[in-house]
Amino acid sequence: KTWHQTGLTSKIMETIRKLNYEKPMPIQAQALPVIMSGRDCIGVAKTGSGKTLAFVLPMLRHIKDQPPVAAGDGPVGLIMAPTRELVQQIHSDIRKFAKVMGVRCVPVYGGSGVAQQISELKRGTEIVVCTPGRMIDILCTSGGKITNLRRVTYLVMDEADRMFDMGFEPQITRIVQNIRPDRQTVLFSATFPRQVEILARKVLNKPVEIQV
Ligand code: AMP
Repeated sequence: KTWHQTGLTSKIMETIRKLNYEKPMPIQAQALPVIMSGRDCIGVAKTGSGKTLAFVLPMLRHIKDQPPVAAGDGPVGLIMAPTRELVQQIHSDIRKFAKVMGVRCVPVYGGSGVAQQISELKRGTEIVVCTPGRMIDILCTSGGKITNLRRVTYLVMDEADRMFDMGFEPQITRIVQNIRPDRQTVLFSATFPRQVEILARKVLNKPVEIQV
């Protein structure tokens, strides 16, 4: 498969060319057409497989089809990941594409830099990439004044198995319950144990399953 068969926009193609990504990796070749078609998707793939771009590129495309995000609006795309390190990694992958597209992305995690995260959230951002616990804190402590989930229509759970291992299930469920049901949802996991399958069945709508 080539990039041209995946239906990406020219701005995205430009960045892919600059990064010298000659062709889609197998998870991208399989998942991109499914996710770009608007279907929910389960991807069973490990770190290093290229899974991040498999959910990030369709998200950028999805965002470009939505009305602009103003100050006070919550994000259109929400990504949950288990650790601060993974949040930072995903954020840095997104920025390579998002900046030239005029799409903003705010990382949300505990520890240093919280004041800056909050001020960026207040200004409005198209994408939030977060750890579930920290996101709940921000939503609750401010009573929805810092950001909110009302505009989320593209939801990603990355490394779902690891989020379970770390005990994030209650926070994930709580966040998902507050997102509109007509969203598109994508779940990635390195393994697919029973508990992840149960979550997937609750949260995704007729998902297409892809394994690499
Ligand atoms: P990931 O599994 O998402 O962490 O990606 C693993 C690495 O592969 C990252 O450093 C990406 O920048 C890189 N990468 C992603 N897609 C491609 C591609 N199509 N061709 C070459 N490298 C890629």
